[in-house]
Amino acid sequence: MTHREFKSTGIEEQAAFLARQFEARYGRAPTWLVAAPGRVNVIGEHTDYNGGFVLPMAIDRYAMVAAGPVEAGDGVGEREWFWVSEQTLEPLRFSTDEPIRQGLPAWGNYVRGVVAGFQDRGARVPGLVAVLRSTVPMGAGLSSSAALEVATAMLVEETTGLRLEPVEKALLCQRAEQEFAGVPCGIMDQFVSVMAEADALMLLDCRSRVTESVRFDSEDLAVLVADTLVRHALTDGSYAARREQCETAARFLGVGLLREATLSQLEEARLRMDPVLFKRARHVIMEDQRTLAVVESIRYGDWAAVGSAMYGSHESLRVDFEVSCRELDLLVDLARSLGPEHGVVGARMTGGGFGGCTVTLVHTNSVEEVSAHMTRHYREETGVEPVMFLTRPSGGAQVLRTVTENRSRYFPELNRS
Ligand code: ADP
Ligand code: MG
Repeated sequence: MTHREFKSTGIEEQAAFLARQFEARYGRAPTWLVAAPGRVNVIGEHTDYNGGFVLPMAIDRYAMVAAGPVEAGDGVGEREWFWVSEQTLEPLRFSTDEPIRQGLPAWGNYVRGVVAGFQDRGARVPGLVAVLRSTVPMGAGLSSSAALEVATAMLVEETTGLRLEPVEKALLCQRAEQEFAGVPCGIMDQFVSVMAEADALMLLDCRSRVTESVRFDSEDLAVLVADTLVRHALTDGSYAARREQCETAARFLGVGLLREATLSQLEEARLRMDPVLFKRARHVIMEDQRTLAVVESIRYGDWAAVGSAMYGSHESLRVDFEVSCRELDLLVDLARSLGPEHGVVGARMTGGGFGGCTVTLVHTNSVEEVSAHMTRHYREETGVEPVMFLTRPSGGAQVLRTVTENRSRYFPELNRS
């Protein structure tokens, strides 16, 4: 692994790069620059849509958008949105003059869904041209989708002046993903992208939507993300199937959400229950317990306990929830085989599964050794070079620039006063 891959560039550097891209394309500086982070979930997987607990952090990788009002010569209608993304070939174009519906290209539905959500709240969304660039890898379980939605929401807020409370904004983005992209996602990704605090993990109770900040700022600990490069497709139905199984299991156990079921309740029902549903429910119930236990262990600095909870989570996702894959198992095993003697605290798959990334907690002075070991053996076993990067708990979405000379044009109500 080269040093360049290892360190992500700072947000200002990324923003400056994107502003230059916008200028090169449109011959003027962007009026707005917004950024929303991806996230890595330390523990609490497939618990969010069960009303349970999750413990993610925002990463220092962002979906960033540079945008400006439509000008004559752009070749774009006054009430149109025209976006290009560095990560895709097909640009996105739609009119904000009529009710927004799903359409092509598929990636644009994350954007369309958010704009539609603001329109439902009465926002009159002006046309704009935008350049999107994301350093959150797509489909890797680091929530490039929520980063894109939340960046879009930040942009709509700037261009319309209609600002939402953080929770409302996250829920609007979640709805956009559910209704426009067809992914029945939980609330974790959007919550953390909107509200994350730097140097902290976010404990989120997905039923009450109450968040609690868990300090995570030790210089001695590093968060190493390893990407298998195996890609899932959340729209292929396996995610929706898990969600449905959880709902069926909850009904069987007589609870509204699996979060409310206890292990003894589940054990008592075991013989009457479909064995697959039993396993799915066991994962969710135990994962909630592990997540709360990890919060306590972090507060006490009990890293051995954090590690065993992470391995326990991975095993449960592999065996009971069946969302892991050979490549994820391999990366976790490689980290685990080094163990605490070589500075490894713990490792697990992160995100929805079926590919994507693992998260490994490593003591800082062992990072090089651990990543070299994982890279070498992964390459030998799979023939694929995994992508590894270090990250740290970062803050939530932000507006990096908004040029106010255009204000009167974009806030017609200000013209009236
Ligand atoms: P994850 O959120 O884990 O990255 P998802 O399947 O939920 O995976 O979301 C990935 C999808 O989000 C991509 O297939 C694409 O449609 C959209 N997307 C995310 N970032 C971008 C981007 N920078 N440009 C275009 N589309 C993007
Ligand atoms: Mg996603």
